[in-house]
Amino acid sequence: MYDYDVIIIGGGLAGLTAALHLRKYHYNIAVFESLEYPHHKVCGEYVSMEIIPYLESLNVSLPKNIYINEMLMSTEKGTSISAQLPLGGLGISRYTLDYTLYKKAILQGVTILQKHISSIKFGDPTFTVADTRGGHYTSKFVIGAYGKREALDKNLNRDFIQGKSPWLGVKAHYKLDSFPENLVALHNFRGGYGGLSKTESGAVNFCYLVSYDSFKSEKNMESFQQNILAKNPYLNKFIMESEMLFSKPLTIAQISFGKKSTIENHILMCGDTAGLIHPFCGNGMAMAVHSAKMAAELIHLYFTKSDYDRHQLEKEYNRQWHKIFGKRIWVGRQLQRVLLNETISPRAMQLINYSPYLVSKLIKATHGKTIDTV
Ligand SMILES: Cc1cc2nc3c(=O)[nH]c(=O)nc-3n(C[C@H](O)[C@H](O)[C@H](O)COP(=O)(O)OP(=O)(O)OC[C@H]3O[C@@H](n4cnc5c(N)ncnc54)[C@H](O)[C@@H]3O)c2cc1C
Repeated sequence: MYDYDVIIIGGGLAGLTAALHLRKYHYNIAVFESLEYPHHKVCGEYVSMEIIPYLESLNVSLPKNIYINEMLMSTEKGTSISAQLPLGGLGISRYTLDYTLYKKAILQGVTILQKHISSIKFGDPTFTVADTRGGHYTSKFVIGAYGKREALDKNLNRDFIQGKSPWLGVKAHYKLDSFPENLVALHNFRGGYGGLSKTESGAVNFCYLVSYDSFKSEKNMESFQQNILAKNPYLNKFIMESEMLFSKPLTIAQISFGKKSTIENHILMCGDTAGLIHPFCGNGMAMAVHSAKMAAELIHLYFTKSDYDRHQLEKEYNRQWHKIFGKRIWVGRQLQRVLLNETISPRAMQLINYSPYLVSKLIKATHGKTIDTV
């Protein structure tokens, strides 16, 4: 026997969505999350509409006052293009989004434990999960939804951990009432790019991704802002006119976009733990939620179909994951190369500017269709 049907490690978007979906079928679920709720997270906070009906079918009600359907992109020198976003998205802070899912999960009977998981062992047919204080918990399945990079990845000997993680993420909320509600703006600067969009509170979220090399070239955040960010005229205007609402920006380090495995030692990996799309695609959150749905549905199939075994489940999860997300991640990787190349980027923008068809193709290639409800 085991303590839970499913243990989920990480109570972010992927983990909480999987928990809510599995509770629909009345399974006994535990989510382990290191941090206390609610909390801010480094994220662009543009949520693609493709997952909104599905989240609502899990009885999650989200603020919809910021609907974003226009995108503006600029190069470091200020060459810009704008485009309509066919499906669009909502501007919702992670503080509100994750907390809303958390409260719903508690209401639905999910056990949420504030503990940091340090090891996961599979002794067929049961998993044993250990926390940093010596607690042990058993389950039939484990979903790994612990985000981009974790000590657990090292313990599990995952290949991607050997690769470079040369990216840093920075985010803060700002007051700038004149910023358009329906816009997501992506601005390039040397070694990175930043996104600006409004959230449900009316604050503008400024979140950027930057290479270590670029960041280290300046002595502190202020000089980085002045000497690198402000070189882009759009960012310069934003910095001059806005007022930061956080006491200091939030940062995360060691972001890697290397290929990951979807299954590791029989653990089903969801969200960023399975693979991270480049942030400017604005699709990471949708992928986290969608992959959680896929994992939950296959686990349900396992529990309800007597001739469906763990091997079939894992094979099918891997197949679906690559079919649905493989191309998006690949296109995102290629676009990132172009965008961050100082020589190619302005020419690519010119080309895109003359071809609205190409823009809509690229947006479609990095996004999915509206996913089915429960
Ligand atoms: C700079 C930047 C901007 C982005 N902008 C956007 C955007 O605008 N739109 C978009 O759709 N996507 C965006 N993304 C991507 C998006 O943030 C992620 O894809 C999304 O957060 C993935 O959700 P997740 O549940 O997989 O991981 P997370 O939300 O990171 O959740 C993982 C959780 O696991 C917990 N955890 C970690 N280790 C342990 C452990 N050992 N034990 C217990 N708990 C643990 C963490 O505390 C965390 O709460 C952006 C990413 C970056 C880096």
